[in-house]
This record gives sequence, structure tokens and C-alpha cells, in this order.
Amino acid sequence: MKVRFDRETCIGMFQCTAEWDAFERNETEGKADLDGGVETDPDVFEREIPEDAELDAKFAARACPVDAIEVYDDEGEKIV
Ligand code: SF4
Repeated sequence: MKVRFDRETCIGMFQCTAEWDAFERNETEGKADLDGGVETDPDVFEREIPEDAELDAKFAARACPVDAIEVYDDEGEKIV
């Protein structure tokens, strides 16, 4: 499972940081940071989700008010 984080869309509401600790508050920039994320497009970050964090990652994606977080299964289908 993979997470995709559109950091440009992020408005720094920080709901995601309460759901999954891979998302960290960046108060200076008013954005979340995705720990371990690799920049695949300008300001878009992706990383694998460890099996034991899959629920947390889905909750983080659902919690984001601007849909900046997407979760994909191993076939590349968007789940959240
Ligand atoms: S919940 Fe969404 S808008 Fe808020 S910090 Fe996380 S990614 Fe950004």
C-alpha cells in the first residue's frame, strides 16, 4: 500500500498528524511533512505504508479536509 501526499494542496490543518505519525507538523511552513516521503512530482510526495500503519494512513487520508492525501493498494487502485 502506498500514500501520495499533495503538499501544495495542504493547508496545514494538521488533522492527519493526529491520525498517522508519519505526518509531522511543519509550523514554519504551515504544511504537513511526510516522513520518508520521496518527491515524485513538484511538491508531491510518496512512500510505502508499513502493514501495521495501513489503518492509520487511511484515517489520515479521510481526515484531510482538502483531500491532499490519497492511499493506493498494491495494484495501484486508489482506496481513499
Ligand atoms: S490534514 Fe490535510 S491539510 Fe491538514 S495538514 Fe494534513 S495534509 Fe495538510
